[in-house]
Amino acid sequence: MGKITGFLEFDRKVEEYAPVEERVKNYKEFTLPMKEKELKDQGARCMDCGIPFCHSGCPLGNLIPDFNDAVYRGKWEKAADILHATNNFPEFTGRLCPAPCEEACVLGINEDPVSIENIEKNIVETAFKKGWIEAKPPKNRTEKKVAVVGSGPAGLAAAQQLNRAGHWVTVFERDEKPGGLLRYGIPDFKMEKHIIDRRLEVLEEEGIEFICNTHIGKDLEASQLKQDFDAIVLCGGATVRRNLPIKGSDLKGVVQAMDFLSQNNRRVDGVKKFDGEILATNKNVIVIGGGDTGSDCIGTSFRQGAKSVSNFEIMPMATTNRPEDQPWPFWPMRLRTSSSHKEGAERFFSISTKEFIGDKEGNLKGLITSEVEWIKQPGKRPVLKEVEGSEKEWKCELALLALGFTGSEMTIAEQLGLEADQRTNIKAEETNYQTNVPGVFAAGDQRRGQSLIVWAISEGRQAAHHVDTYLMGSSELPLKGEGDLPRV
Ligand SMILES: Cc1cc2nc3c(=O)[nH]c(=O)nc-3n(C[C@H](O)[C@H](O)[C@H](O)COP(=O)(O)OP(=O)(O)OC[C@H]3O[C@@H](n4cnc5c(N)ncnc54)[C@H](O)[C@@H]3O)c2cc1C
Ligand code: SF4
Repeated sequence: MGKITGFLEFDRKVEEYAPVEERVKNYKEFTLPMKEKELKDQGARCMDCGIPFCHSGCPLGNLIPDFNDAVYRGKWEKAADILHATNNFPEFTGRLCPAPCEEACVLGINEDPVSIENIEKNIVETAFKKGWIEAKPPKNRTEKKVAVVGSGPAGLAAAQQLNRAGHWVTVFERDEKPGGLLRYGIPDFKMEKHIIDRRLEVLEEEGIEFICNTHIGKDLEASQLKQDFDAIVLCGGATVRRNLPIKGSDLKGVVQAMDFLSQNNRRVDGVKKFDGEILATNKNVIVIGGGDTGSDCIGTSFRQGAKSVSNFEIMPMATTNRPEDQPWPFWPMRLRTSSSHKEGAERFFSISTKEFIGDKEGNLKGLITSEVEWIKQPGKRPVLKEVEGSEKEWKCELALLALGFTGSEMTIAEQLGLEADQRTNIKAEETNYQTNVPGVFAAGDQRRGQSLIVWAISEGRQAAHHVDTYLMGSSELPLKGEGDLPRV
């Protein structure tokens, strides 16, 4: 596992970023490549720790010490095989994963953890460059037909796994191109979209059919799919956005973050005309909500030429260190500062927006906030309390609502008679990913609620195993962490 003394010899290193003033001029990815020697040294930092907690930290069960060791020894093709044994799309997670594995790394107890995510990205990029990632269509076909609804990471992972098992897979997508939030949520500066296209070419060559511009439940009744296919996997995401129902929320300039982000991604993709253009150019922008979506709005606003960008978060500022009540190897709620935050946004915590203010024409010109306190109560959830006399007015011509998602759209569920869970997602147990209707499965955000790419891929893989079992009586598709290690 790496070099026995590697962690004593080498400090943690990850790809650096291009300077802010350069990178905000365009929407390109801005990490600076590392030399092969540096990457090998990083692989060498993986210790022979006995029980690699990073395995369980990764929702895919990635075989991390094994690929670290292969990188340290310069066996890049082997590393790529190990990585793909558990992860269909390491080029997505290697760029975008918050890396819970690194929080669980044993070295991370008293040192900087191994730079697992960065190693992962470099393995898969080397593999694409060298031409090692090729279509591998199944040798035999079962003649069973599976419909996957939604082409985000969950849908794509489920589709590839089911195709590998020999089933005929059709992916239905209502957007004009496949990718889900990878394409129409996450900005290009975090992941350029040719990265998705490159992988889609492989999937198509393997025999998966993609049908875009088709909204299941509207353009095509879900019951029709049920008739035409032997199984259905619902991977439609958790797309219902949370609103901020306060005075002035209907003003021009109060905009849902997802409308802003998806429009910009389409603009970067060459779309010229929009029904109502949303631009941050020359505006004072306030992004309400401190998560990934909020952070992506900040980076996009700077690239559009915003005058100023502020970010409001209703929760108090977390510490940068691991809180005492969230010990290793668990995922800690600590302050995370993204590359977009570092581009010049001012961040405010424990702040609540009370009212939007408009001009006579109905345009947003400002908003009113107050500071809040979270009062702890034993055995109960903390209660929010406004700080008296803390009201403040802010100048703002564009307010972006990045408040998360409340659940999934339920049209298909209604048409097929599916049960919902308490959080308005489609109910399907983790034991088999099957809904209350036999042959209908659910995975990704549509099943677990708004989550992460790594979880979506993991759920797509797990669901595929259970769909295959449903269709064939048993399945050889791997479950979490069961990927076969290549023999070299
Ligand atoms: C702005 C933003 C930034 C994010 N950044 C990160 C990040 O950096 N790292 C990370 O790990 N996670 C991030 N996430 C979360 C991550 O993107 C999601 O958890 C992940 O994409 C979920 O994958 P999914 O396949 O379940 O659903 P989605 O990616 O949401 O894909 C669902 C797809 O289904 C389609 N669909 C829905 N209903 C239908 C229908 N009836 N008919 C046909 N098609 C349908 C949708 O159009 C969509 O293409 C981010 C989320 C957002 C919103
Ligand atoms: S997918 Fe995420 S959690 Fe898993 S090894 Fe890669 S960076 Fe770590």
